[in-house]
Amino acid sequence: MGGTFDPIHHGHLVAASEVADRYALDEVVFVPTGQPWQKTEHAVTPAEDRYLMTVIATASNPRFSVSRVDVDRVGPTYTVDTLRELRDQYGEKTELFFITGADALSKILSWKDADQLFELAHFVGVTRPGFALTDAHLPADVVSLVQVPAMAISSTDCRRRVASGQPVWYLVPDGVVQYITKRHLYR
Ligand code: ATP
Ligand code: MG
Repeated sequence: MGGTFDPIHHGHLVAASEVADRYALDEVVFVPTGQPWQKTEHAVTPAEDRYLMTVIATASNPRFSVSRVDVDRVGPTYTVDTLRELRDQYGEKTELFFITGADALSKILSWKDADQLFELAHFVGVTRPGFALTDAHLPADVVSLVQVPAMAISSTDCRRRVASGQPVWYLVPDGVVQYITKRHLYR
């Protein structure tokens, strides 16, 4: 599951958990982006902070792990590069799934080397409040749609809340609330 995770929240975690259960996945690898090429309109928190928040949020789940591939690769993050690197790392025999929310799914075809993406992984689109889960124009044999419990949470809203002094308790894991406070993020 790729994402900016700025910060990681319970919407991400529920989606990952549901898809892992549905497809009996051995592991869910969270992959925080390096420099997100589609998010140039606002300053993104340093990758190291986003990586650490993702580690904190996933630490208690033995099936969740975090990969540094995108954080460590210089230049903009493209999912096709992420998947190629994970493919090399995990070997040809490992089946890869890419978990993505309805909003990102509808943009997949605009991603770099979109045609090759589908050869590298099976794409799983999850429902997200406020976004239609439309599989229009996406090849059905490589993209599946999964209904997950509706979590009307976004990182954007979490950042705004912190900036205006509102709580993010229960929207993000406790350790992430504490990390945000400790590092003075989003103020
Ligand atoms: P931002 O508001 O900064 O864009 P975000 O909440 O959308 O943050 P991202 O890191 O952009 O979080 O998302 C990573 C992935 O998780 C994307 O595929 C996104 O669609 C999915 N996702 C994010 N929030 C939810 C949610 N509440 N329910 C389901 N999927 C989600
Ligand atoms: Mg987003």
